Amino acid sequence: MAEKPQPVRVLYCLVCSLPAEYCEFGPDFEKCKPWLIQNAPDLYPGLIKETNAKEADKVAEQLQSAGISSSSGDGATPSGVTSAPKEEVKRLPGGKIKKKEKQEVVIEKVTRNKRKCITTVKGLDLFGVKLSDASKKLGKKFATGASVVKGPTEKEQIDVQGDISYDIVDFITETWPDVPEAAIYFIEDGKKVPAA
Ligand SMILES: [Zn+2]
Repeated sequence: MAEKPQPVRVLYCLVCSLPAEYCEFGPDFEKCKPWLIQNAPDLYPGLIKETNAKEADKVAEQLQSAGISSSSGDGATPSGVTSAPKEEVKRLPGGKIKKKEKQEVVIEKVTRNKRKCITTVKGLDLFGVKLSDASKKLGKKFATGASVVKGPTEKEQIDVQGDISYDIVDFITETWPDVPEAAIYFIEDGKKVPAA
Protein backbone atom coordinates (compact mmCIF):
# COMPACT_ATOMS: atom_id res chain seq x y z
CA MET A 1 0.00 0.00 0.00
CA ALA A 2 2.89 2.32 0.73
CA GLU A 3 4.68 1.64 -2.58
CA LYS A 4 1.87 2.35 -4.96
CA PRO A 5 0.77 5.96 -5.24
CA GLN A 6 -2.99 6.11 -4.86
CA PRO A 7 -4.93 7.75 -7.65
CA VAL A 8 -6.66 10.93 -6.62
CA ARG A 9 -10.31 10.28 -6.04
CA VAL A 10 -13.06 11.65 -3.96
CA LEU A 11 -13.93 9.78 -0.83
CA TYR A 12 -17.50 10.33 0.20
CA CYS A 13 -18.46 10.25 3.84
CA LEU A 14 -21.03 7.57 4.53
CA VAL A 15 -22.48 9.55 7.39
CA CYS A 16 -23.31 12.89 5.77
CA SER A 17 -22.62 11.96 2.11
CA LEU A 18 -20.37 14.93 1.53
CA PRO A 19 -16.87 14.46 0.19
CA ALA A 20 -14.95 13.53 3.32
CA GLU A 21 -12.82 16.64 3.19
CA TYR A 22 -15.97 18.75 3.55
CA CYS A 23 -17.40 16.95 6.54
CA GLU A 24 -16.29 19.68 8.86
CA PHE A 25 -18.59 22.07 6.98
CA GLY A 26 -21.37 19.53 6.89
CA PRO A 27 -24.56 19.29 8.90
CA ASP A 28 -23.18 17.17 11.70
CA PHE A 29 -19.45 16.96 11.89
CA GLU A 30 -19.63 15.32 15.31
CA LYS A 31 -21.38 12.31 13.85
CA CYS A 32 -18.95 12.14 10.95
CA LYS A 33 -15.91 12.06 13.20
CA PRO A 34 -15.93 8.33 14.02
CA TRP A 35 -16.28 7.45 10.36
CA LEU A 36 -13.55 9.86 9.38
CA ILE A 37 -11.17 8.45 11.95
CA GLN A 38 -11.72 5.02 10.47
CA ASN A 39 -11.75 5.91 6.81
CA ALA A 40 -10.05 9.22 6.24
CA PRO A 41 -7.59 9.75 9.07
CA ASP A 42 -5.21 11.64 6.79
CA LEU A 43 -7.75 14.34 6.15
CA TYR A 44 -8.27 15.11 9.81
CA PRO A 45 -5.12 14.24 11.71
CA GLY A 46 -6.39 16.31 14.60
CA LEU A 47 -9.21 13.89 15.23
CA ILE A 48 -6.90 11.06 16.13
CA LYS A 49 -5.23 13.11 18.81
CA GLU A 50 -8.61 14.14 20.04
CA THR A 51 -9.82 10.57 20.34
CA ASN A 52 -7.73 7.96 22.01
CA ALA A 53 -7.33 4.54 20.48
CA LYS A 54 -9.71 2.80 22.80
CA GLU A 55 -12.50 5.14 21.91
CA ALA A 56 -11.85 4.63 18.24
CA ASP A 57 -12.23 0.89 18.68
CA LYS A 58 -15.46 1.37 20.51
CA VAL A 59 -16.70 3.63 17.74
CA ALA A 60 -15.74 1.09 15.10
CA GLU A 61 -17.82 -1.49 16.90
CA GLN A 62 -20.73 0.89 17.02
CA LEU A 63 -20.41 1.58 13.34
CA GLN A 64 -20.40 -2.09 12.51
CA SER A 65 -23.41 -2.79 14.62
CA ALA A 66 -25.13 0.17 12.99
CA GLY A 67 -24.53 -1.45 9.64
CA ILE A 68 -22.21 1.20 8.25
CA SER A 69 -19.44 -0.73 6.62
CA SER A 70 -16.09 0.92 6.67
CA SER A 71 -14.64 0.83 3.20
CA SER A 72 -10.90 0.62 3.36
CA GLY A 73 -10.50 2.67 0.21
CA ASP A 74 -8.20 0.13 -1.38
CA GLY A 75 -10.70 -2.40 -2.56
CA ALA A 76 -13.51 0.03 -3.16
CA THR A 77 -14.54 0.62 -6.74
CA PRO A 78 -12.77 3.81 -7.78
CA SER A 79 -15.14 4.67 -10.62
CA GLY A 80 -18.13 4.21 -8.40
CA VAL A 81 -16.70 6.64 -5.94
CA THR A 82 -15.93 9.43 -8.37
CA SER A 83 -19.13 9.17 -10.36
CA ALA A 84 -21.38 9.96 -7.45
CA PRO A 85 -24.43 12.00 -8.34
CA LYS A 86 -23.76 15.63 -9.19
CA GLU A 87 -26.22 16.77 -6.58
CA GLU A 88 -23.89 15.70 -3.84
CA VAL A 89 -21.13 17.82 -5.26
CA LYS A 90 -23.37 20.84 -5.25
CA ARG A 91 -23.74 20.65 -1.51
CA LEU A 92 -20.44 22.32 -0.88
CA PRO A 93 -19.25 24.16 2.21
CA GLY A 94 -20.75 27.48 3.08
CA GLY A 95 -23.77 27.03 0.85
CA LYS A 96 -26.85 26.17 2.76
CA ILE A 97 -28.74 23.19 1.50
CA LYS A 98 -32.10 24.54 0.57
CA LYS A 99 -34.91 22.15 0.00
CA LYS A 100 -36.93 23.33 -2.90
CA GLU A 101 -39.07 21.32 -5.22
CA LYS A 102 -36.85 19.40 -7.55
CA GLN A 103 -37.35 20.04 -11.23
CA GLU A 104 -38.09 16.69 -12.70
CA VAL A 105 -40.60 14.88 -14.82
CA VAL A 106 -41.79 11.56 -13.47
CA ILE A 107 -43.46 9.05 -15.74
CA GLU A 108 -45.32 6.07 -14.39
CA LYS A 109 -47.18 3.32 -16.14
CA VAL A 110 -50.26 2.37 -14.23
CA THR A 111 -52.10 -0.78 -15.16
CA ARG A 112 -55.71 -0.64 -14.13
CA ASN A 113 -56.41 -4.15 -15.27
CA LYS A 114 -54.79 -6.51 -17.72
CA ARG A 115 -56.00 -4.59 -20.74
CA LYS A 116 -56.10 -1.04 -19.62
CA CYS A 117 -52.97 0.92 -19.02
CA ILE A 118 -52.40 4.57 -18.29
CA THR A 119 -49.17 6.48 -18.45
CA THR A 120 -49.02 9.30 -15.95
CA VAL A 121 -46.72 12.26 -16.50
CA LYS A 122 -45.91 14.48 -13.56
CA GLY A 123 -43.81 17.59 -13.31
CA LEU A 124 -43.93 19.15 -16.77
CA ASP A 125 -45.41 22.25 -15.17
CA LEU A 126 -42.19 22.67 -13.19
CA PHE A 127 -40.51 23.47 -16.49
CA GLY A 128 -43.02 26.10 -17.44
CA VAL A 129 -45.05 23.78 -19.65
CA LYS A 130 -48.77 24.42 -19.64
CA LEU A 131 -50.34 21.09 -18.74
CA SER A 132 -53.51 21.54 -20.75
CA ASP A 133 -51.41 22.27 -23.79
CA ALA A 134 -49.10 19.34 -23.10
CA SER A 135 -52.06 17.05 -22.63
CA LYS A 136 -53.43 17.98 -26.05
CA LYS A 137 -50.06 17.47 -27.70
CA LEU A 138 -49.58 14.07 -26.07
CA GLY A 139 -53.06 12.93 -27.07
CA LYS A 140 -52.49 14.02 -30.64
CA LYS A 141 -49.01 12.56 -30.94
CA PHE A 142 -49.96 9.16 -29.58
CA ALA A 143 -53.48 9.19 -30.99
CA THR A 144 -55.00 8.46 -27.66
CA GLY A 145 -56.88 10.12 -24.84
CA ALA A 146 -55.00 12.41 -22.52
CA SER A 147 -56.25 14.63 -19.75
CA VAL A 148 -55.05 16.80 -16.92
CA VAL A 149 -56.12 15.32 -13.60
CA LYS A 150 -55.36 15.92 -9.97
CA GLY A 151 -53.02 13.32 -8.59
CA PRO A 152 -53.03 11.89 -5.09
CA THR A 153 -51.21 14.89 -3.68
CA GLU A 154 -53.57 17.41 -5.30
CA LYS A 155 -50.90 18.20 -7.84
CA GLU A 156 -51.94 18.19 -11.43
CA GLN A 157 -50.59 15.51 -13.68
CA ILE A 158 -51.34 14.24 -17.16
CA ASP A 159 -52.95 10.86 -17.64
CA VAL A 160 -52.40 9.36 -21.07
CA GLN A 161 -54.34 6.30 -22.13
CA GLY A 162 -52.16 3.39 -23.08
CA ASP A 163 -48.53 2.57 -22.57
CA ILE A 164 -46.51 5.29 -24.24
CA SER A 165 -43.62 5.10 -21.84
CA TYR A 166 -41.19 3.93 -24.51
CA ASP A 167 -41.66 6.88 -26.83
CA ILE A 168 -42.53 9.61 -24.44
CA VAL A 169 -39.02 10.68 -23.44
CA ASP A 170 -38.02 11.57 -26.99
CA PHE A 171 -41.29 13.35 -27.49
CA ILE A 172 -40.87 15.41 -24.34
CA THR A 173 -37.31 16.46 -25.06
CA GLU A 174 -38.15 17.31 -28.67
CA THR A 175 -41.33 19.19 -27.86
CA TRP A 176 -40.10 21.01 -24.77
CA PRO A 177 -36.35 21.59 -25.09
CA ASP A 178 -36.30 23.15 -21.63
CA VAL A 179 -36.83 19.69 -20.17
CA PRO A 180 -33.48 17.91 -20.11
CA GLU A 181 -33.50 14.16 -20.53
CA ALA A 182 -31.56 13.90 -17.28
CA ALA A 183 -34.55 15.32 -15.42
CA ILE A 184 -36.91 12.62 -16.66
CA TYR A 185 -37.54 9.59 -14.51
CA PHE A 186 -39.64 6.47 -14.67
CA ILE A 187 -41.29 4.73 -11.79
CA GLU A 188 -40.58 1.06 -12.24
CA ASP A 189 -41.59 -1.43 -9.61
CA GLY A 190 -42.00 1.42 -7.17
CA LYS A 191 -38.49 2.66 -7.81
CA LYS A 192 -37.52 5.88 -9.52
CA VAL A 193 -35.08 5.26 -12.32
CA PRO A 194 -33.53 7.86 -14.65
CA ALA A 195 -34.73 7.77 -18.23
CA ALA A 196 -31.37 8.85 -19.59
ZN1 LIG B 1 -19.37 13.45 6.93
